[in-house]
Amino acid sequence: MISITPIPAFNDNYIWLLDNGEQAVVIDPGCAQPVEEYLEQKKLILSTILVTHHHADHTGGVRQLKQKYQCKVHGPANDPVSNLDDSHKDGDLLTLQSIPLTIEVIGVPGHTRGHIAWFIAATAHNENLLFCGDTLFSGGCGRLFEGSAEQMWHSLQKFLALPDNTKIYPAHEYTLSNLRFAATLEPENQKLQQYQQQVALNRQENRPSLPTNLLIEKEINPFLREKSSTVINVIENRLQRSNLTPVEVFEEIRHWKDIF
Ligand code: ZN
Ligand code: FE
Repeated sequence: MISITPIPAFNDNYIWLLDNGEQAVVIDPGCAQPVEEYLEQKKLILSTILVTHHHADHTGGVRQLKQKYQCKVHGPANDPVSNLDDSHKDGDLLTLQSIPLTIEVIGVPGHTRGHIAWFIAATAHNENLLFCGDTLFSGGCGRLFEGSAEQMWHSLQKFLALPDNTKIYPAHEYTLSNLRFAATLEPENQKLQQYQQQVALNRQENRPSLPTNLLIEKEINPFLREKSSTVINVIENRLQRSNLTPVEVFEEIRHWKDIF
Protein backbone atom coordinates (compact mmCIF):
# COMPACT_ATOMS: atom_id res chain seq x y z
CA MET A 1 0.00 0.00 0.00
CA ILE A 2 1.06 3.58 -0.58
CA SER A 3 1.00 6.17 2.21
CA ILE A 4 0.71 9.86 1.43
CA THR A 5 1.97 12.41 3.96
CA PRO A 6 1.98 16.21 3.93
CA ILE A 7 5.31 17.68 5.05
CA PRO A 8 4.61 21.28 6.08
CA ALA A 9 7.04 23.89 4.74
CA PHE A 10 7.29 27.70 4.95
CA ASN A 11 4.03 29.36 6.07
CA ASP A 12 1.45 27.34 4.21
CA ASN A 13 3.11 24.92 1.73
CA TYR A 14 2.71 21.16 1.81
CA ILE A 15 5.39 18.94 0.29
CA TRP A 16 3.49 15.71 -0.43
CA LEU A 17 5.43 12.50 0.11
CA LEU A 18 4.36 9.07 -1.20
CA ASP A 19 6.00 5.94 0.14
CA ASN A 20 5.64 2.18 0.20
CA GLY A 21 7.56 1.71 3.44
CA GLU A 22 10.95 1.68 1.67
CA GLN A 23 11.06 4.08 -1.25
CA ALA A 24 9.65 7.59 -1.40
CA VAL A 25 8.54 10.15 -3.98
CA VAL A 26 8.16 13.84 -3.10
CA ILE A 27 6.22 16.46 -4.98
CA ASP A 28 7.39 20.10 -5.08
CA PRO A 29 10.09 20.17 -2.38
CA GLY A 30 10.37 23.93 -1.81
CA CYS A 31 13.02 23.21 0.82
CA ALA A 32 15.10 20.14 1.63
CA GLN A 33 15.46 20.06 5.41
CA PRO A 34 11.97 18.94 6.52
CA VAL A 35 12.01 16.28 3.78
CA GLU A 36 15.41 14.97 4.92
CA GLU A 37 14.20 14.84 8.53
CA TYR A 38 11.10 12.89 7.58
CA LEU A 39 13.04 10.43 5.39
CA GLU A 40 15.54 9.79 8.19
CA GLN A 41 12.87 9.39 10.84
CA LYS A 42 10.96 6.85 8.70
CA LYS A 43 14.10 5.23 7.20
CA LEU A 44 12.97 5.86 3.63
CA ILE A 45 15.02 6.20 0.46
CA LEU A 46 14.12 9.12 -1.78
CA SER A 47 14.02 7.80 -5.34
CA THR A 48 12.00 10.42 -7.22
CA ILE A 49 11.15 14.11 -7.14
CA LEU A 50 8.19 15.43 -9.14
CA VAL A 51 7.92 19.18 -9.82
CA THR A 52 4.74 20.93 -11.00
CA HIS A 53 6.10 24.41 -11.84
CA HIS A 54 9.09 26.68 -11.51
CA HIS A 55 8.25 28.81 -8.44
CA ALA A 56 10.88 28.73 -5.69
CA ASP A 57 8.47 27.51 -2.99
CA HIS A 58 8.10 24.33 -5.12
CA THR A 59 11.68 23.84 -6.30
CA GLY A 60 14.01 25.34 -3.65
CA GLY A 61 14.98 21.97 -2.16
CA VAL A 62 15.47 20.01 -5.41
CA ARG A 63 19.22 20.53 -5.80
CA GLN A 64 20.15 19.54 -2.26
CA LEU A 65 17.86 16.48 -2.22
CA LYS A 66 19.13 15.30 -5.60
CA GLN A 67 22.76 15.61 -4.46
CA LYS A 68 22.13 13.76 -1.22
CA TYR A 69 19.92 10.91 -2.51
CA GLN A 70 20.92 10.69 -6.19
CA CYS A 71 17.22 10.59 -7.01
CA LYS A 72 15.61 11.25 -10.41
CA VAL A 73 13.92 14.60 -10.93
CA HIS A 74 10.93 14.97 -13.27
CA GLY A 75 9.33 18.29 -14.11
CA PRO A 76 7.61 20.46 -16.69
CA ALA A 77 9.07 20.87 -20.20
CA ASN A 78 7.77 24.42 -20.64
CA ASP A 79 8.68 25.98 -17.29
CA PRO A 80 12.25 27.01 -16.37
CA VAL A 81 13.18 24.39 -13.73
CA SER A 82 16.84 23.47 -13.02
CA ASN A 83 18.23 20.03 -12.12
CA LEU A 84 15.65 18.03 -14.12
CA ASP A 85 16.56 14.56 -15.42
CA ASP A 86 13.41 14.36 -17.51
CA SER A 87 10.96 16.98 -18.68
CA HIS A 88 7.32 16.26 -19.42
CA LYS A 89 4.35 17.74 -21.21
CA ASP A 90 0.62 17.13 -21.45
CA GLY A 91 -0.25 13.52 -22.25
CA ASP A 92 3.09 11.98 -21.23
CA LEU A 93 3.09 8.79 -19.18
CA LEU A 94 5.82 8.31 -16.62
CA THR A 95 6.47 4.85 -15.16
CA LEU A 96 8.38 4.64 -11.90
CA GLN A 97 10.27 1.47 -10.98
CA SER A 98 11.08 2.22 -7.34
CA ILE A 99 7.44 2.37 -6.30
CA PRO A 100 5.61 0.75 -9.23
CA LEU A 101 3.42 3.62 -10.41
CA THR A 102 2.22 4.93 -13.74
CA ILE A 103 1.79 8.67 -13.66
CA GLU A 104 -0.09 10.71 -16.24
CA VAL A 105 1.06 14.23 -17.00
CA ILE A 106 -1.68 16.83 -17.41
CA GLY A 107 -0.65 20.16 -18.93
CA VAL A 108 -2.38 22.92 -16.96
CA PRO A 109 -1.03 26.34 -18.04
CA GLY A 110 -2.39 29.43 -16.28
CA HIS A 111 -0.59 29.95 -12.96
CA THR A 112 2.65 29.57 -14.93
CA ARG A 113 3.16 28.97 -18.64
CA GLY A 114 4.32 25.37 -18.30
CA HIS A 115 2.56 24.20 -15.11
CA ILE A 116 1.82 20.46 -15.11
CA ALA A 117 -0.17 18.22 -12.76
CA TRP A 118 0.55 14.57 -11.91
CA PHE A 119 -2.39 12.12 -12.00
CA ILE A 120 -2.15 8.55 -10.74
CA ALA A 121 -5.06 6.30 -11.69
CA ALA A 122 -6.47 3.92 -9.08
CA THR A 123 -4.89 0.47 -8.62
CA ALA A 124 -5.15 -2.20 -5.92
CA HIS A 125 -2.62 -0.13 -3.95
CA ASN A 126 -3.97 3.39 -4.34
CA GLU A 127 -7.00 5.55 -5.14
CA ASN A 128 -7.16 8.09 -7.99
CA LEU A 129 -4.66 10.76 -6.97
CA LEU A 130 -4.05 14.25 -8.36
CA PHE A 131 -1.05 16.38 -7.42
CA CYS A 132 -1.98 19.74 -8.85
CA GLY A 133 0.61 22.18 -7.45
CA ASP A 134 -0.76 25.72 -7.54
CA THR A 135 -3.44 25.13 -10.20
CA LEU A 136 -6.34 24.04 -7.99
CA PHE A 137 -6.74 24.64 -4.25
CA SER A 138 -9.57 23.54 -2.04
CA GLY A 139 -12.16 26.26 -2.64
CA GLY A 140 -9.87 28.19 -4.98
CA CYS A 141 -7.45 28.19 -7.89
CA GLY A 142 -3.98 29.58 -8.61
CA ARG A 143 -3.40 33.19 -9.52
CA LEU A 144 -2.82 33.95 -13.19
CA PHE A 145 0.84 34.97 -13.14
CA GLU A 146 1.81 33.89 -16.66
CA GLY A 147 -1.31 32.60 -18.39
CA SER A 148 -4.74 33.91 -19.38
CA ALA A 149 -8.11 33.24 -17.76
CA GLU A 150 -9.02 31.21 -20.82
CA GLN A 151 -5.96 28.97 -20.44
CA MET A 152 -6.64 28.41 -16.74
CA TRP A 153 -10.30 27.65 -17.46
CA HIS A 154 -9.26 25.00 -20.02
CA SER A 155 -6.80 23.58 -17.51
CA LEU A 156 -9.50 23.26 -14.85
CA GLN A 157 -11.83 21.57 -17.38
CA LYS A 158 -9.22 18.78 -17.61
CA PHE A 159 -9.49 18.24 -13.87
CA LEU A 160 -13.30 18.25 -14.12
CA ALA A 161 -13.07 15.33 -16.55
CA LEU A 162 -11.31 13.13 -13.95
CA PRO A 163 -13.31 10.66 -11.82
CA ASP A 164 -15.33 12.29 -9.01
CA ASN A 165 -13.57 10.19 -6.37
CA THR A 166 -10.14 11.60 -7.34
CA LYS A 167 -8.28 12.72 -4.23
CA ILE A 168 -6.72 16.13 -4.75
CA TYR A 169 -3.43 17.22 -3.19
CA PRO A 170 -2.78 20.96 -3.70
CA ALA A 171 0.50 22.53 -2.57
CA HIS A 172 -0.92 25.17 -0.20
CA GLU A 173 -3.14 25.37 2.87
CA TYR A 174 -5.31 28.21 1.58
CA THR A 175 -8.66 26.53 2.20
CA LEU A 176 -10.19 28.70 4.95
CA SER A 177 -9.51 32.02 3.22
CA ASN A 178 -10.72 30.56 -0.09
CA LEU A 179 -13.96 29.49 1.58
CA ARG A 180 -14.58 32.99 2.98
CA PHE A 181 -14.59 34.24 -0.60
CA ALA A 182 -16.70 31.31 -1.82
CA ALA A 183 -19.31 32.02 0.89
CA THR A 184 -19.52 35.66 -0.21
CA LEU A 185 -20.26 34.50 -3.73
CA GLU A 186 -22.69 31.72 -2.72
CA PRO A 187 -24.11 32.53 0.76
CA GLU A 188 -26.94 29.98 0.31
CA ASN A 189 -24.75 27.00 -0.62
CA GLN A 190 -25.34 24.50 2.21
CA LYS A 191 -22.63 22.07 1.14
CA LEU A 192 -20.21 24.98 1.30
CA GLN A 193 -21.37 25.93 4.83
CA GLN A 194 -20.96 22.35 6.06
CA TYR A 195 -17.53 22.07 4.47
CA GLN A 196 -16.47 25.41 5.97
CA GLN A 197 -17.39 24.18 9.47
CA GLN A 198 -15.51 20.93 8.96
CA VAL A 199 -12.39 22.71 7.68
CA ALA A 200 -12.51 25.28 10.51
CA LEU A 201 -12.57 22.46 13.06
CA ASN A 202 -9.63 20.69 11.41
CA ARG A 203 -7.60 23.87 11.28
CA GLN A 204 -8.36 24.72 14.94
CA GLU A 205 -6.77 21.40 15.84
CA ASN A 206 -3.90 22.08 13.45
CA ARG A 207 -4.86 19.30 11.03
CA PRO A 208 -4.47 19.90 7.27
CA SER A 209 -7.69 20.59 5.37
CA LEU A 210 -6.23 18.47 2.56
CA PRO A 211 -6.50 16.27 0.59
CA THR A 212 -9.86 17.22 -0.82
CA ASN A 213 -11.66 15.41 -3.65
CA LEU A 214 -13.20 16.34 -6.97
CA LEU A 215 -16.80 15.71 -5.89
CA ILE A 216 -16.49 18.13 -2.95
CA GLU A 217 -14.74 20.74 -5.09
CA LYS A 218 -17.48 20.57 -7.73
CA GLU A 219 -19.96 21.52 -5.01
CA ILE A 220 -18.02 24.22 -3.18
CA ASN A 221 -15.23 25.65 -5.37
CA PRO A 222 -16.46 28.77 -7.23
CA PHE A 223 -13.74 28.30 -9.87
CA LEU A 224 -15.36 24.98 -10.85
CA ARG A 225 -18.91 26.36 -10.62
CA GLU A 226 -18.95 28.90 -13.44
CA LYS A 227 -21.82 26.92 -15.04
CA SER A 228 -24.05 27.00 -11.95
CA SER A 229 -27.05 29.31 -12.39
CA THR A 230 -26.54 30.88 -8.95
CA VAL A 231 -22.94 31.80 -9.73
CA ILE A 232 -23.84 33.06 -13.22
CA ASN A 233 -26.55 35.31 -11.72
CA VAL A 234 -24.19 36.83 -9.16
CA ILE A 235 -21.53 37.54 -11.77
CA GLU A 236 -24.05 38.91 -14.31
CA ASN A 237 -25.39 41.29 -11.66
CA ARG A 238 -21.90 42.33 -10.68
CA LEU A 239 -20.90 43.10 -14.27
CA GLN A 240 -24.37 44.35 -15.29
CA ARG A 241 -24.12 42.15 -18.39
CA SER A 242 -25.89 38.99 -19.54
CA ASN A 243 -25.14 36.03 -21.82
CA LEU A 244 -21.65 35.65 -20.42
CA THR A 245 -19.58 32.68 -21.60
CA PRO A 246 -18.22 30.25 -18.98
CA VAL A 247 -14.75 31.73 -19.55
CA GLU A 248 -16.06 35.27 -18.91
CA VAL A 249 -17.76 34.13 -15.69
CA PHE A 250 -14.56 32.39 -14.60
CA GLU A 251 -12.46 35.45 -15.45
CA GLU A 252 -14.61 37.72 -13.32
CA ILE A 253 -14.56 35.30 -10.36
CA ARG A 254 -10.74 35.23 -10.61
CA HIS A 255 -10.61 39.04 -10.83
CA TRP A 256 -12.97 39.47 -7.87
CA LYS A 257 -10.94 37.04 -5.75
CA ASP A 258 -7.73 38.95 -6.61
CA ILE A 259 -9.14 42.11 -5.02
CA PHE A 260 -11.22 40.41 -2.26
ZN1 ZN B 1 3.29 28.89 -7.63
FE1 FE C 1 3.23 27.97 -4.51
